[in-house]
Amino acid sequence: MIDFHTHLPWGLGLREAAEALRAEMRRAGVGLSVVINVEAGLRTFRENVGWERLQRALREALEYSFSPRAGYIASIFLEPERALMEHERVLAEISRDSLEFARGLSGYSDLVPVISYNPDLSPQQNLERLRELGELSLGMKVFPTLHFLDPDRPSLQPLYAEIGSMGGIVIVHTGCDPGIWELPAFCTARPSSVARAARKNRGVKFVVAHLGAYSALNPGIYFKEALEALAEENVYADTSAAEPEFVERAVDEVGYDKILYGSDYPAVAGLSMERAVREVLGLNIEERAKRAITRENALKVLKGWAGWRRISASAP
Ligand SMILES: [Zn+2]
Repeated sequence: MIDFHTHLPWGLGLREAAEALRAEMRRAGVGLSVVINVEAGLRTFRENVGWERLQRALREALEYSFSPRAGYIASIFLEPERALMEHERVLAEISRDSLEFARGLSGYSDLVPVISYNPDLSPQQNLERLRELGELSLGMKVFPTLHFLDPDRPSLQPLYAEIGSMGGIVIVHTGCDPGIWELPAFCTARPSSVARAARKNRGVKFVVAHLGAYSALNPGIYFKEALEALAEENVYADTSAAEPEFVERAVDEVGYDKILYGSDYPAVAGLSMERAVREVLGLNIEERAKRAITRENALKVLKGWAGWRRISASAP
């Protein structure tokens, strides 16, 4: 069993976090995890979510919907300054330096690190970090939400080329994200943008994380776009944090060859890896589709990556 989308538990040192993740993997019968780092940039956050911009976004959101969404939006609206501070606190808590992250995990043969783009660094500085790490990282994750960044932006092309030269992958968060990123103005992570980037970078595999479905208020928000993006040969999708019905529909509509099982552990509150495994094995799809999604597809992707030799050589 391979879990293609996990994170290190927050609030722990690197070693302790890696061990906590591995204990969770053993309990769930997961032999290998792709571990994705998160780096937000507080400077980028402040530049993009000023007081006025937030007010505009809230006004627009209130027009967009009353219903259950209204309560969520109202809590930000009533205490916007507290909300901004709380966002900065969470972003600082979940962010980890990618160099330290990838180097620290390099000794584990059951953890495959993927570093995060850092929006407070320039694209050139991000490129230098990638080069410095070489085969230590399977690739890079871009969060269009947290990073306020379109994955199709031209400045990212050299990064994609570098990743492609090592047979690595680019994972792109799609859908909304908790907090202000549920507001339409900030819920900008579109699979169509991933498809555009993939067309310009055929030598790189792109993974649409969460099947475009990530949203607490509007689950499945960009799911249809994710299916369209999967029509590109170098676009894959992971199942993390997507409701089982979306995974079943995706297999039904576009097949299972490019769908990768991911739990998003520990990002979904209260979700154990064990439960996520039970969920994917309980899907109403063919057994061979389950085998492909939970292992074979991931192995194919990993075997194309230059760093795989090092990992597989030291695997038990
Ligand atoms: Zn995640």
